[in-house]
Amino acid sequence: MTPPSHTVKPTEWRTAKRWNPFNSNKLLAHVERWKRIRRGRPIPAPALITVDPTNVCNLDCVWCNAEYIREHRNRRLSEAALLSIADFLPRWGRRDFDAFGVDAVCVAGGGEPLLNPATPAFIDKLAAHGIEIGCVTNGSLMYDHMDALAQCTWLGVSVDAGTAKTFNALKGVAESKNAFGAVLDNMSLLTDYARSHHARLGSPHPAYGISYKYLLHPENIGEVYTATKIAKEVGCKNIHFRPAGTPWDKIGTEDEIRFSEDDIALFNEQIILAQELDDDSFSVYGITHKFSEQFERANYFSKCHSLFMTGVISPPSNPNAPEDAFVMGLCCDRRGDAKLELLRDETDVEKIEAAWGGKAHWKMHDSITIADECPRCTYQPHNQIYEQVILNDSMTYKFI
Ligand code: SF4
Repeated sequence: MTPPSHTVKPTEWRTAKRWNPFNSNKLLAHVERWKRIRRGRPIPAPALITVDPTNVCNLDCVWCNAEYIREHRNRRLSEAALLSIADFLPRWGRRDFDAFGVDAVCVAGGGEPLLNPATPAFIDKLAAHGIEIGCVTNGSLMYDHMDALAQCTWLGVSVDAGTAKTFNALKGVAESKNAFGAVLDNMSLLTDYARSHHARLGSPHPAYGISYKYLLHPENIGEVYTATKIAKEVGCKNIHFRPAGTPWDKIGTEDEIRFSEDDIALFNEQIILAQELDDDSFSVYGITHKFSEQFERANYFSKCHSLFMTGVISPPSNPNAPEDAFVMGLCCDRRGDAKLELLRDETDVEKIEAAWGGKAHWKMHDSITIADECPRCTYQPHNQIYEQVILNDSMTYKFI
């Protein structure tokens, strides 16, 4: 099908869907917590922590932002480490009556999280502690872990294609394999399972459920509409598009991802078509507000404040590190960058709270030269809100 030509610039979502999980305005809900990020004072625990159970993957996506750690580390968190992290996170920061604690965990990678056999037990334990869970997976191994995954608030399945041919080409899969079909089957089965078991993932809540994740790349933009039809058919709650970015270790190399004006025009045509499939039970999000018009970096802030808002716990950096070691990193966009690792190959989870907001943490904050070192920043809206709303009071936010 040849899509009609549109000259209208698309919106990211339908107006009625503006209260959605991908709207960065939700960060304003955290202003009271982030106001306490001050040098020399205790820093509140982050609302969200990312945990990478493994740095191993069974696919090889062309844009992988974790290729560096997959190549240089290739380890996983032990079951003992994962379970002690799951026990520690609900305690972190909650000593005082009005203290802020960790509310949610994103189980991600760094690798494919379900390749670590302890990931389901980790999810079970977080859920038992009342921590909300989101999980990002490539979808290939979901079938065997439906009980655990059904407890998640959301599950982002990185499909990134609308046909098996494009899926295989972008993810390093042999042409003879039907990995694309298997992922779609898994999503359909898990949707049915979660609904029939009245699990959180199967809730009718419009923002809970399975999200068909689609990183835009020059090679897959033409399949935006096709992928949206598939996402709706297999029972996803939404499809989420955003441009793939260049990994931190590839900036300035020939591997930088660039979009032409034709690519952007094609995306605009396709997303307008795709949004015609948006209805009360299925949403289409084409997220562009974090990027420039050319889908490039838009790091319009002067310092990295988000280093105090979230963090990434990942497998040890050294092959000789103890079995139960972990790394506490500060930026999901610079996984494996030792400059932003607050704790390296530590085995005591209590040290996380002791190091948080300490001298070494502030030194990392002070040392970052964003323009030279940083890729397209996932936390651009966090940093802008801290500078504009908290430091500059640009919105005079107390006047509600
Ligand atoms: S990419 Fe740079 S600015 Fe963004 S969170 Fe990471 S270190 Fe901070």
